[in-house]
Amino acid sequence: MTMKSFALAALLLAFAGHAFAGHAFAGQAFASKASVEPIIIDHVTLIDGTGRAAKHDMAVVVDGGKFTMVVPSDLVRGLAARHRIDGTGKYLIPGLIDVHIHLDGFSRDKKDDKKWVVDRKAGLQALASYLYAGVTTVLDVGNIPQNILPLRADERAGKILAPHVFASGNLITYPGSHGSDIAVNVRSWPEAEAQLQAQLDSQHPDVIKITYDDEGWGSRPLIPILPKDLLQHIIQFYNEHGVRTTVHISGENRALEAIYSGVDTLAHTPIQGPLSEGFVKMAAAKQIPFATTMMIGDNYSRLREHPEYLDQPLYVATMDPKERARLKKLVADGGETALKNSKPLFQKSWRLWMKTQTPILQDNLRRIDEAGGVIATGTDGSNGAGEQRELELLAEAGIAPLEIVKIATFNGARFLGRQETMGSIEEGKLADAVLLSADPTRDIDNCKAIVMVMKAGAIIDESKLPLAGGPQPRRMP
Ligand SMILES: [Zn+2]
Repeated sequence: MTMKSFALAALLLAFAGHAFAGHAFAGQAFASKASVEPIIIDHVTLIDGTGRAAKHDMAVVVDGGKFTMVVPSDLVRGLAARHRIDGTGKYLIPGLIDVHIHLDGFSRDKKDDKKWVVDRKAGLQALASYLYAGVTTVLDVGNIPQNILPLRADERAGKILAPHVFASGNLITYPGSHGSDIAVNVRSWPEAEAQLQAQLDSQHPDVIKITYDDEGWGSRPLIPILPKDLLQHIIQFYNEHGVRTTVHISGENRALEAIYSGVDTLAHTPIQGPLSEGFVKMAAAKQIPFATTMMIGDNYSRLREHPEYLDQPLYVATMDPKERARLKKLVADGGETALKNSKPLFQKSWRLWMKTQTPILQDNLRRIDEAGGVIATGTDGSNGAGEQRELELLAEAGIAPLEIVKIATFNGARFLGRQETMGSIEEGKLADAVLLSADPTRDIDNCKAIVMVMKAGAIIDESKLPLAGGPQPRRMP
């Protein structure tokens, strides 16, 4: 069947109410929302996020916050819409997903370093930076609850301009172990159960993060680690309450122990050395999602060697000009620069270790992906521009652009356990999408050629985003 005859047949079926039963063809479905919906984007090249090849001259109908039709443009020619976007010469991809962030907006009280101070404005700016960069979903895997949880509540209530926010709240670890300053610290079972119950009841984690690392890598000293039996109890506790788990690890051995303790996802991919062949095969066999998190480690040397990246449009729009100037001055002064405050991160050895290990991490990610495993973009940062950097680093790892789009969208939804409802441009899924003016399957950098960002069917008005770089014009011509 030719494309044209297929379209005609499909159209007839649609009106007969068979193949397209459930589509919002009827007037009442269209009139039910007094918003700008339904929206039709037609004549667009669709990259749906599942890894399937691009399809040309497609139409996407958005209604009730979801994609209601994804069909050849011919099929929607006569369809009424409040808002029609001509996608000729443009490319539609799903909204990007970052499965590992720590949202800005919390710092130590300068007078009392046992206390935290919340800066809501910084949190809102960071959230806005994601939408601006095409990221429509974030998972915060460790924060102070008083920073992230009110923002999550406000996002869900539609009160703020932000991507979909999923969060752990406090993470879980052992006293003195990795991330213990923003954690519920547990020592033993069953004593820990009441602490976990309290965390669950008060913070309602979407995914809980546990850290399982004795460090001793980079320029870090060895530290206490969560006992493995306790790790198992924590995973089981949260799973039995319907909550998925993710674990911080840095090396293969701890990752392996965490996986066989029952963890659902890995918040990082091992960076300490090249993965064994058995580990790569296991990752594919288990289909367990790994967050990529290259950006954070790469950034130490990038800042030092290429501070001019701070002048790229995405950074100019999403960072405070004073912060960009401060970072440039640090580099110009020859100081060791870092985006975090803990001491070893300022050391030269840390920067050099990360510079050496990032290519190894890239290779590990490429190997897991090639073997058929699941890797999902995570930055370990707090700015949407970082997600775009993560895509660059995936391309540098030797992964094809079409596959990278999947890693940054559908695989993120798999990480979250939400692949049935989001993460790709398919009928019935949440209408999260990014319209691009250049082909991302030709060059992944074209994911930055953003014309329009849509979250749950709503077109984001960039001019209203509270960006740290100041108000930006709308990018839709
Ligand atoms: Zn992290």
